[in-house]
Amino acid sequence: MPATSIASADRDAGDGWVDLRSDTVTRPTAPMREAIARAAVGDDVYGEDPTVNALQARLADELGFDAALFVPTGTQSNLLALIAHCARGDEYLVGMDAHTYKYEGGGAAVLGSIQPQPIVHAADGTLPLDAVERAIKPIDPHFARTRLLCLENTWHGRPLPLDYLAAARALCDRRGLALHLDGARVFNAAVACGVPVREIARHFDSVSVCLSKGLGAPVGSVLLGSAALIESARRWRKVCGGGMRQAGLLAAGALHALDHHVARLADDHAHAAALAAGLAGLDGVRVASQHTNMVFIEVDPARLDALRAHADAARVRLSIGYTPSIRLVTHLDVDDDGIARTVAMLRAFAAG
Ligand SMILES: *Cc1c(COP(=O)(O)O)cnc(C)c1O
Repeated sequence: MPATSIASADRDAGDGWVDLRSDTVTRPTAPMREAIARAAVGDDVYGEDPTVNALQARLADELGFDAALFVPTGTQSNLLALIAHCARGDEYLVGMDAHTYKYEGGGAAVLGSIQPQPIVHAADGTLPLDAVERAIKPIDPHFARTRLLCLENTWHGRPLPLDYLAAARALCDRRGLALHLDGARVFNAAVACGVPVREIARHFDSVSVCLSKGLGAPVGSVLLGSAALIESARRWRKVCGGGMRQAGLLAAGALHALDHHVARLADDHAHAAALAAGLAGLDGVRVASQHTNMVFIEVDPARLDALRAHADAARVRLSIGYTPSIRLVTHLDVDDDGIARTVAMLRAFAAG
C-alpha cells in the first residue's frame, strides 16, 4: 500500500473512530488550517474576495471553462446549473438513481419548476444513449421542452468511460441539448483514468465539483461554465441564499486541497482495493463492487443489528441504512490501520 502523502502528525486525530460513511467526513489537516488562517478575504457578494476569485480562476483554467462560481454545497451547485440551463416548464434527463434527481430533495422541480425525466442506469453507471434519445420529447405543446442531459461521474465510485462521454456529447450536439456533469468526485475519476480532469470536463457545458468530499476541504463546491451561464448562476445563488461574504476562508481550504490532495486520491483508491481484497471470499459479507474510493458490500438484512454491534465495538462507523447493500468510502482520514481494523471487524462478523 502506498504511504499517504499526508504526515500523520498533520492529520486531525478526531475521536479515534474509523469513519467509512462518506468522504464528506474529512477534517482539515494542520497545513490546511494554516492556509485558512492566512487567507486574504473580502466581500464575495461584491466579487471582492481575492481568495474566492483565485479559486474560481484556477478551477476555470484547469477544467477549461470561461468562468466559475464558489457555492456552499454540491446540491446548490447542481441546482444553480439546472436553473441556469432550463426555464420553467423545461425538462432535464437524469439518472433514476442520480444524486441530482434522488438525493437533492427534488430541488429542480420544487425551486426551478424543471421537470425531471429519469432514465434507468446501466450497470456501469452510464445512461444508455438509446434510452436517452427515446426520452427526448417532440416539440409540441403537449410536452415539456427537453433541454438538458445530466450525468454523474464518478457513479457509485465508477469513472464513466471516456468514449461514453464523447458519445453523450455527440448526441447532445445532434439533438440540441446542453450537457451538465455532477462531478462531485470528478477528480477521483480523473486520477483513476490517469487523465487531466480537463479531459473529462471538456465534453460538458457545465460541471459541478465538490471540494468537501475526498479533496478534504471543510465546505464548498464550484460550478463551472460559460460566462453567461455563471452570470445567471450567480444571480440564482443570491436568490437561494448562497451569497457568502468573507468566503475566502473556505476557498483557502479548497485551494490547499487542490495543491496537496489530488494526486493522493490514488491512496484512497488503493485503500478501497485493499479493503475489498481483505473481504474476498467471505460467506457473510459479499463484496458487490469496488471502484475508486468506494466498496459496496452486501450482508443478510436479518444481521444488520449484529453488524452494528460489531462495528461499534471495533469503533468503525458504517452507514447502515435500509437495504442489505452498504457503501464503505475511503478518504484522507482513513489510513492503513483503519483498513486493517475494518477488515478484521468484518471478518469476525462474517464468521459469527
Ligand atoms: C455529495 C454529492 C453532491 C453534493 O452534496 P452536498 O452535500 O450538497 O455538497 C452531489 N452529487 C453527488 C454525486 C454527491 O456525492
